[in-house]
Amino acid sequence: MKIYATTRFTVESFEMKERIDTVLKSFDIDYTPPGPYIIKGGYIVIDYHLHLQYEPYFVGNLMKELQFVREGKGGELEFMFDFQFTDYEMNDSPLFDMYSIGNIPRRYLTNEGQYNSKIFCQTCEKVYVEKDTPLVINTKTVDQQDFVYVDSRLVISEKIACLFKSSKLTGYLLEQVEHYGSKRKRRPAYEVVPTNILTPQCIPDEYKNDPNVKKLNCPACNTGSHLIFPYHYDQGISKFVEDFNLSFEYTGNEKSAKRNVLISRKVKDLLTENGYVDEEWIFQPIIIKK
Ligand SMILES: [Zn+2]
Repeated sequence: MKIYATTRFTVESFEMKERIDTVLKSFDIDYTPPGPYIIKGGYIVIDYHLHLQYEPYFVGNLMKELQFVREGKGGELEFMFDFQFTDYEMNDSPLFDMYSIGNIPRRYLTNEGQYNSKIFCQTCEKVYVEKDTPLVINTKTVDQQDFVYVDSRLVISEKIACLFKSSKLTGYLLEQVEHYGSKRKRRPAYEVVPTNILTPQCIPDEYKNDPNVKKLNCPACNTGSHLIFPYHYDQGISKFVEDFNLSFEYTGNEKSAKRNVLISRKVKDLLTENGYVDEEWIFQPIIIKK
């Protein structure tokens, strides 16, 4: 696995460009933003897209030096991770994080029903959300799309439920989703509820102690950063794997924390072979520590 840091930002003056270019030069980064810089109406728009090999202190210091590009715009200049996996890692991984099911907005819905919030961490006041009642959505969307994420919970159509059943997938149960909207549009739809919680990860110390991630995470519960390394397990994990699994660890955004779903290679292959997967689906492998 190779790790890159990537960041994009736009500036609107040559003076800013000069300041940025001076910083980049001092870090030995050879980068020229793509031209032309003057667009119609006389506005200057200069787009930067930096993609750098990830070295924690180098990238952390660079971001610190470039903070002035965000001045007056609110928030901080941030970077994202971009992981490049080897063919071996992709082909050998028993589990995948399926974090995109395509770039179709209708596949990402919000529950119209109720959640229960419980305190997850006293320090950062994140909650975790549970539900006592089924999800409530327009089920016709599921019938048309076959797969939707409802607040990151996977919901499938009747057709996919049958495919999962006939393929004898394990580690999940199906919970019928309630319909929201006109009765005419009601269709069967099911939330895939994973029942298997994996053993804890073996995260390498360099990732556990990464200064940029630590800076963003809550010191008590260690969640909150958008910078999340791929899942790491030792070889023994294969014994605990079902087709649908929840990670032992929680990941969080600013407000809430949850356990992520990891699917088996069998699920990935099943969806691919049946033509549901296109290049916009993203499967991130786990890393097995030798
Ligand atoms: Zn916390």
